[in-house]
Amino acid sequence: MTIKLYNIKNRKKEVFKPIDAKNVRMYVCGPTVYDRAHIGNARPVVVFDILYRLLRHKYGVTFVSYARNFTDVDDKINVKAISTGRSIREITDETIGWYNKDMAALGALEPNYTPRATEYISEMIEMIKELIKKGHAYSSKDHVLFDVNSYEAYGMLSGRSVDDMIAGARVEVAPYKRNPMDFVLWKPSNNEQPGWESPWGFGRPGWHIECSAMARSLFGEKFDIHGGGLDLQFPHHENEIAQSCACCGQDSFANVWLHNEMLQVEGKKMSKSLGNFFSVRDLLDEGFSGEVIRFVYLSTHYSKPMDWTVKKAQEAEVTLRKWRKLTKDIQDSKLISEEVIEALNDDLNTSKAITALHGIAKRGDAKTLKASAQLLGLLNNQMGGWVEENTFDLSALEALILDVRDKAMKTKDFSELDNLKSSFISAGLDVQMSKDRIKLIVGLQFDSSKLEDFL
Ligand code: AMP
Ligand code: ZN
Repeated sequence: MTIKLYNIKNRKKEVFKPIDAKNVRMYVCGPTVYDRAHIGNARPVVVFDILYRLLRHKYGVTFVSYARNFTDVDDKINVKAISTGRSIREITDETIGWYNKDMAALGALEPNYTPRATEYISEMIEMIKELIKKGHAYSSKDHVLFDVNSYEAYGMLSGRSVDDMIAGARVEVAPYKRNPMDFVLWKPSNNEQPGWESPWGFGRPGWHIECSAMARSLFGEKFDIHGGGLDLQFPHHENEIAQSCACCGQDSFANVWLHNEMLQVEGKKMSKSLGNFFSVRDLLDEGFSGEVIRFVYLSTHYSKPMDWTVKKAQEAEVTLRKWRKLTKDIQDSKLISEEVIEALNDDLNTSKAITALHGIAKRGDAKTLKASAQLLGLLNNQMGGWVEENTFDLSALEALILDVRDKAMKTKDFSELDNLKSSFISAGLDVQMSKDRIKLIVGLQFDSSKLEDFL
């Protein structure tokens, strides 16, 4: 069965054909490391982790390479260094440590390569030299700029013409640019800014060149898949393509381009001023387990905007608890459901894959459930700690409340029932009563110590 992916470059779903099935290569733009990753930054991590897992499943673990960079040279990092009095290296090392830990908590596999931009400065300088030699870049007032007019296909990825871009741009027209859309490959640094010696003086790279240089150095001039968030389509990815294709040939760089849509919170764009801006660590510290967060991400297709809501997290928790209970005796299973693979093969349809998992759970097929969920990075043994903390047999409490209700129906005195209900609710349980059934659901604030009197 083939994998189909929606290739933004050609604006259609296409059968994925690797250049070399023994060396499938995927590059994804990673974070700028000056602060904790927010929950939007984690979306591409989870999305491309699924693609990585699917490719490994199809082509074999040793035949797939995944690179995700760290942007560790950037003016936001410089600002943080100045405001905190700490060194740039200290800040970027600490942030990379946080990032690795937080993304591992979401069950993301570590990519094969996690290059840091500052380790590829000489490769960037080399590429800039080649661009100047081929007439695609020029130096002007200690800067080097990419000449967008020299590259005919500029705008191909985002579907815009250079004239439209100029009309819509609010960029300041710098005196050293020939065309307002020309972008910086190299810029001068003063003594307080990080910098390296180059043919154009002491300076540092512009943002875009790092991904072109790192991808080329790790994967060669042509590779299979390039990904990132939709916000990177323009200008970052457009500029990466222009640099790489102008330098190495029109047909070079990535064959397939994928972008995840953005994440918002409770229906609103995440922003510090709205108070709905969280880091992944904030959610983990609040008691949302990494597995629950991952499940919520997977329930929306990557190409659609995704809404983080507490309600979705609560529902995810109930489902995962059920699935973990059902599969608790299964040690190792390789019975992956064809239905789940088919859903993922269809442009990573994770929400359809989850629907399939619900069906498998309903049939009580624990072995297939475990292996198939694991393909999505769920139900892994090392991620189950959060459930064990709460392995609490609720059936005795359900029986108790049923008893008390029966009594109340006869005596018409509901005070004991009301008291019991409020005790359960204050222990973090959701009490659902229907005519012939009582169901207790563990909420996120569940505290079993408050229930000791009832057991
Ligand atoms: P940055 O550190 O801002 O360069 O972002 C790192 C990655 O997170 C990039 O792939 C971005 O496209 C992605 N990203 C940033 N904000 C969001 C968001 N709200 N939703 C989804 N992806 C995002
Ligand atoms: Zn990039």
